[in-house]
Amino acid sequence: CGIVAYIGEREAYPVILKGLKRLEYRGYDSSGVALLNGGGLKVYKKQGKVAELEENLVGKDLHAHIGIGHTRWATHGEPCDRNAHPHLSKSGKISMIHNGIIENYAQIKQDLQKKGYVFTSDTDTEVLLNFIEDIHLNNGGSLEEAVRIALKRVVGAYVIVLLDEEHPDTLIAARKGSPLVIGIGKGEHFLASDASPIIEYTKEVVYVNDYELAIIKADELILKNLGNEKITPFITKLDMEL
Ligand code: GLU
Repeated sequence: CGIVAYIGEREAYPVILKGLKRLEYRGYDSSGVALLNGGGLKVYKKQGKVAELEENLVGKDLHAHIGIGHTRWATHGEPCDRNAHPHLSKSGKISMIHNGIIENYAQIKQDLQKKGYVFTSDTDTEVLLNFIEDIHLNNGGSLEEAVRIALKRVVGAYVIVLLDEEHPDTLIAARKGSPLVIGIGKGEHFLASDASPIIEYTKEVVYVNDYELAIIKADELILKNLGNEKITPFITKLDMEL
């Protein structure tokens, strides 16, 4: 399984697609992308190989400078198009990808169902996404703050990346127990599960640590802990060859 995301001046889709192919060696059963270009989020996902997703998207409007991509190794819910990532929140405004497992998802799901939430997939991921959105809508605070609050109540392992229609210039990412590397380019950022999708674009990367949250714009990377304190990103120079 793997995650890839991009924000910057390039076309996001080709960068993400190539990155997903580089992560194929990690194993997966489905793949998908979410792209944002002014209007609404476009989410495309498919069971099977990344090449099948690619074939399905021929002729579609894939123009965007921000996007997220995912390969799934199913843990909660069978491999199928519906359970593939990215998932969309109830409002349809926030999309999220996730590698890992949310162990206490059943309790959170029940609580949300009592509030009237109806789930469209069987994944723990859709539960975490709507938990975050529910906190966001009820608190009136930022999405970033809602992510922090939600993650303090979550048991499990994760790397997540969120793309919010209302903030088309920002990606929010966090990890605990699943890898996340951020490549720093000139006015652009690349996110991935390992450096292999990033190395051809930049040699400067930040390995995000557990319980850290990244707020990423094209020309800005802010790292925080779950207590909302800023952390200075430690930049590593890659010396791997392509
Ligand atoms: N637990 C999530 C799911 O089953 C993510 C699996 C993964 O790591 O790809 O959809």
